[in-house]
Amino acid sequence: MARKTKPNVPDHIVIGGHTIPVVFGDVDGDDWGEFKSEPMRIDLNARRHTEHPDLLDSTLFHEAWHAAAEISGLTEILTGKQEEAIAKCLERLMWPLLQWRGSGE
Ligand SMILES: [Zn+2]
Repeated sequence: MARKTKPNVPDHIVIGGHTIPVVFGDVDGDDWGEFKSEPMRIDLNARRHTEHPDLLDSTLFHEAWHAAAEISGLTEILTGKQEEAIAKCLERLMWPLLQWRGSGE
């Protein structure tokens, strides 16, 4: 069996002047990641991302959106389903667009 190594994960990100810890560890359920608002923190599912490190950056981008929505106040006007739909749109459609610079194409 191939040995899995821990992906390169930042210990925090900064959004709107707020430093948000990023924890690579256990996540409730089977989610890839989770943003918690009180106190703000992003948890990344170590088990899933050790198996699929290629999805780590897009998951962090997704969870960073949740943090940005909280910090900006958008969560005051969005339902949970609306917030998640925007997160999935950004992760699935906009994150790949942002990768063009490193693709060499
Ligand atoms: Zn989400």
